[in-house]
Amino acid sequence: MKAWELKRSAKSKRDLAVFIRDGFQCVYCGHDGRTFEGWCHLEVDHVVPKHLVKRGGEAPEHPDNLVTACMSCNSLKGQYKAKNFKDANAEVLRLRTQMREKVWALEFEPHLPDTIDPRGPKGK
Ligand SMILES: [Zn+2]
Repeated sequence: MKAWELKRSAKSKRDLAVFIRDGFQCVYCGHDGRTFEGWCHLEVDHVVPKHLVKRGGEAPEHPDNLVTACMSCNSLKGQYKAKNFKDANAEVLRLRTQMREKVWALEFEPHLPDTIDPRGPKGK
């Protein structure tokens, strides 16, 4: 990745530092932001939302509270009131699974041929 690409994907020096620390990969799904197509999908996520951190008296912009997330994971997480990274990660994974199941039910299941049993071959 060239220097100008890095500068464009990171909105600030803070973002760039977070991306470098996390290896330009989404901490939730592993989306690789090191390619030309991938870098523009990266954002910095506040693990514990800003307004909740303030209540605890700690700085919301502390590096421990910032992670690299792809737009998709960051959007799914939304305003989820995560207590810590483990909690945030579990929620993003839960929402991604839910989304996959919805897409399967809406987009693929109606088009399955009658001859294919989605539960697998009989007798297993
Ligand atoms: Zn992601």
